[in-house]
Amino acid sequence: MSALGFDVEKVLGFAKKREMCRGKLSQGSECYIGLPWFEVNKCRYNKKHAIVVGAGIAGVTTAWALAQGGWLIDLIEQHGAIAQEGSGNPLSILMPRISLNESRESAFYSVAYLKAIRELTKLKKEAPDFSWQQGGVLQLAASQRILKQIDKLNCADDFVQGLSAQEASEIAGVPINDKALFFPMAGWLNPRDLCERLIKDSEGRINLHFNTTITRLCSQNGHWQLFNQEGQVKLESEVVVLANATHANKFQQTDWLPLQPARGQLSFRTATTKSKGIRCAICYEAYVLPELAGRHVIGATFKRGDSGTELRACDDSENMRKLERGLPGIFDANDANEIRNKGRAALRAITPDRMPMVGPVADVDYFKIHYHDLYKGKSASTYPKGVNPKVS
Ligand SMILES: Cc1cc2nc3c(=O)[nH]c(=O)nc-3n(C[C@H](O)[C@H](O)[C@H](O)COP(=O)(O)OP(=O)(O)OC[C@H]3O[C@@H](n4cnc5c(N)ncnc54)[C@H](O)[C@@H]3O)c2cc1C
Repeated sequence: MSALGFDVEKVLGFAKKREMCRGKLSQGSECYIGLPWFEVNKCRYNKKHAIVVGAGIAGVTTAWALAQGGWLIDLIEQHGAIAQEGSGNPLSILMPRISLNESRESAFYSVAYLKAIRELTKLKKEAPDFSWQQGGVLQLAASQRILKQIDKLNCADDFVQGLSAQEASEIAGVPINDKALFFPMAGWLNPRDLCERLIKDSEGRINLHFNTTITRLCSQNGHWQLFNQEGQVKLESEVVVLANATHANKFQQTDWLPLQPARGQLSFRTATTKSKGIRCAICYEAYVLPELAGRHVIGATFKRGDSGTELRACDDSENMRKLERGLPGIFDANDANEIRNKGRAALRAITPDRMPMVGPVADVDYFKIHYHDLYKGKSASTYPKGVNPKVS
């Protein structure tokens, strides 16, 4: 713990223990994970002002978190409203990504999930009409990987449970034929609703600029200048956050970011007598959410490298086919379709390792000079520290 920046002391113990160790993370200390390229110095800014590009869930949550810390934010969006692209789906599932092996990656996802649940619960308490429904998510054993997870699970029951088909059926409200993982704290929400509430919760600290497309970034005297579609400087700040999904690598400073679009389509279906029994989100190869106003949301296709956002009948059929394999007979299997009850298609921004991208934009020239031979497997300690991105 000391090596990670905690001040550790011995204090009076509890229960039958005479003493115990207590660690407190020292003020300002950063978690050092032994990889020098992540070890950049903390930046100091003259003003707590930032510009965030992109008003989807990434941009809005970032702006909100900064606003909580006393920052003023200019949030820029190319459309005339927030959450119009990837974050514009009527309902999205929030569930954790679990892994049998402890790793930094699994720790990140667990902490992110618990933090999200805590914030959503707070918002729901303040506004009971908020769309967050903590109804639980069942992941049916659609693969050997999930079966293995169910059999070897070693987690707290309120985080995830391994269920028999019988137990899963009782929770689902409809017959289930497979073993399942159950995430009792998980649920679903309308992401646009969440974005609107976070902006409201920021009490005027987020200034929205709609119908503005940022086309170029330029650094000038320690400030970033952002140019709009008319080639004019729209705004300036010491701090810019790019949260504009697949477009984040459209700038000269970021054109090397390995982002790709992945098209996804949701299907909508009018509730049937059988489907009305569904009580929680159920995922097989496709997922279905409990009906809302007589309609189910079913999703979602995943087409790497495809940037089309038109509705396609073949994608709708694919969703229904995949769902039918896990929940036979819930909907009419032969309901093909001219986009039966319609749906929605949008793009995800994906990365080669499927992890989110976060943190300071690397100085690519510095990286090329100092880390070009990483592939040789030399010890990390032989490399110099990373540097902060340049604003000259
Ligand atoms: C069909 C489908 C189903 C999904 N289901 C789920 C789910 O159930 N659970 C889940 O967790 N995730 C789900 N996802 C993924 C999730 O929707 C995305 O990860 C999330 O919405 C991404 O948010 P974002 O803010 O990064 O991107 P976006 O919502 O795409 O926001 C980026 C914003 O940047 C703006 N922008 C782009 N370029 C510029 C520019 N130059 N200037 C100004 N503005 C710009 C865009 O207009 C856009 O509003 C799904 C995705 C799809 C497509």
